[in-house]
Amino acid sequence: MNNKIIYFDNNATTRTDDRVVEAMLPYFSSYYANPSSLHSLGQTVKQIVETSRSKISSYLSSKPEEIIFTSGATEAINLAIKGIVETYSNKGRHIITSQTEHSAVLDVCKYLESRGFEIDYLRVSKEGLIDLTQLENQIRTDTILVAIMYVNNETGVVQPIAKIAEICNLNKVLFFTDATQAVGKLPINTSNCKIDLLCFSGHKFYGPKGIGGLYCKRNIKLNPLLHGGGHENGLRSGTLNVPGIVGLSKAFEIAHDEMQTNKEFIQSLRDKFERIILSQYNVKLNGHPKNRLYNVSNMSFKDIDPLLMISSLNDIAFSQGSACSSSSIKPSHVLTSMGVSYEEAFSSFRFSFGKYNSESEVDSVLSQLGKILKQKEKSNTII
Ligand SMILES: *Cc1c(COP(=O)(O)O)cnc(C)c1O
Repeated sequence: MNNKIIYFDNNATTRTDDRVVEAMLPYFSSYYANPSSLHSLGQTVKQIVETSRSKISSYLSSKPEEIIFTSGATEAINLAIKGIVETYSNKGRHIITSQTEHSAVLDVCKYLESRGFEIDYLRVSKEGLIDLTQLENQIRTDTILVAIMYVNNETGVVQPIAKIAEICNLNKVLFFTDATQAVGKLPINTSNCKIDLLCFSGHKFYGPKGIGGLYCKRNIKLNPLLHGGGHENGLRSGTLNVPGIVGLSKAFEIAHDEMQTNKEFIQSLRDKFERIILSQYNVKLNGHPKNRLYNVSNMSFKDIDPLLMISSLNDIAFSQGSACSSSSIKPSHVLTSMGVSYEEAFSSFRFSFGKYNSESEVDSVLSQLGKILKQKEKSNTII
């Protein structure tokens, strides 16, 4: 294990909180029964699953029966969109989403297009926000679903979710939000705000990987992706991931209790990082200056070769573009949708901070970055 690595990639995934790991352990070796089993150990385990579900639902201001456990956000997104489309396709075959969604949403939409659905991809402003008037104008009588993410994973841009929900509600269109980067970082209230469906994933807020869920408002009918034993009210068959569910619930509890402290601390790190870079170097910040979550910094470095940057900062974990697209040579679709040029997109990097980071790590990265940029300036003056 490399303990020297500075981890500024908390939007890709987070280190699991030790308290989460500890809460999960008994559910591997003591309370390992299947919660569907009728014997007493099974029923004890079922009880903890239901307690966890209740706790999670209270943090989302929803009802326990509105929470469906899945393997993570990708599955919850597939369940939400395909599940809605299959049930409501008699009403229409039109869906509205945005150009800057996570690939899990965009790829489901592409698949549905191949099955005869019509999708409108809303453009975003230079700062990454959708236009509410454009949204309203695109809604038709055959629109069945609007899918707009809460917080963008690459830029941290926060969409006006309450207003989008209001528009959808007035027009009687269902509204799904991918809240994977919002849950655990922002207070979420599904009953005040008229959200119909919302997904989350444990590993994005110090919980375990492989567990997440979908909030789906009562009376909304979903078609399942998986058929089998009829678990989760028939919406997600398969033996429940009990340790994962317990860990997820613990991660929710910690995130809720420590939300304000984490926000203040993480924001102070991010702000220091940005303030120094922006004041000293030719760098452009990507994303709305105000409607942006406190933990992300996405910047285009104008005078620096991206390959030099990656090779020089090899003991720092950060992302070029998004984690999912960094293996391909295509520039980030999020940045290009915001009008960032190809060249600038290739020189853009995402630093996402978390509660396990420290100010000395920020200082260390700043000093390493400073060296690269100075080197570059020197070679420019020689030329
Ligand atoms: C990470 C992420 C996902 C995918 O989540 P998984 O649980 O890893 O499937 C979806 N949407 C957003 C915005 C994300 O950040």
